Amino acid sequence: MKQLTDRVSWLTDAVGANCYWIDLGPDQVAIVDPGFTVGLNRVARELRRAGRSPYEVTEILLTHGDVDHAHAAAEWQRRTGARTWLGAADAAILTGAARPASPRRQFTSRILTPELPGGLQLLDGDAEILPGLVALKTAGHTPGHHAFRLANTLLVGDAALCTEGRLEPMPAFLDDDVRHSAAALARLRAIEVDWYCCGHSEPARRR
Ligand SMILES: [Zn+2]
Repeated sequence: MKQLTDRVSWLTDAVGANCYWIDLGPDQVAIVDPGFTVGLNRVARELRRAGRSPYEVTEILLTHGDVDHAHAAAEWQRRTGARTWLGAADAAILTGAARPASPRRQFTSRILTPELPGGLQLLDGDAEILPGLVALKTAGHTPGHHAFRLANTLLVGDAALCTEGRLEPMPAFLDDDVRHSAAALARLRAIEVDWYCCGHSEPARRR
């Protein structure tokens, strides 16, 4: 567990995308993109080493429904009773109500689709979902992608990668809609924060 700011830490033992831990308030903790279920026990041990407990989690924030971000969410939710925040368009894909847009996602979804977590709170647009925590609709990588901002930290998900303190586009073949991705990236770049916490590049200070 690497502390980045007074409230945000990086859970480096998660398996899959980067997973973050946020102290929102005295009795409110969020975990962001918990990764694959196979990493659950590793993360639990990592938290205990840091004097924390998985059972502190009250909110599960999913930037999007890709399996490497969301696979463990249902099990985290069962064990903690937390609320789960996810874009409505991505939730529809997890339930099978909508088809993934790209042939690549259609293929991977047949192999492994995350279970839709319980306690679901659907996101569809910008909203302050908890005091000081803002969801930012950043569709493109997936139709329901949302980034999250807490004070000086931007949780970017797969809307971008961070290189040398700057946000750069994800490889185009990973995005459902490249035009929307470009708009989302431009939007995130304009936000003044100190930290970028991305899904697939190390968290870094903004330059
Ligand atoms: Zn993704």
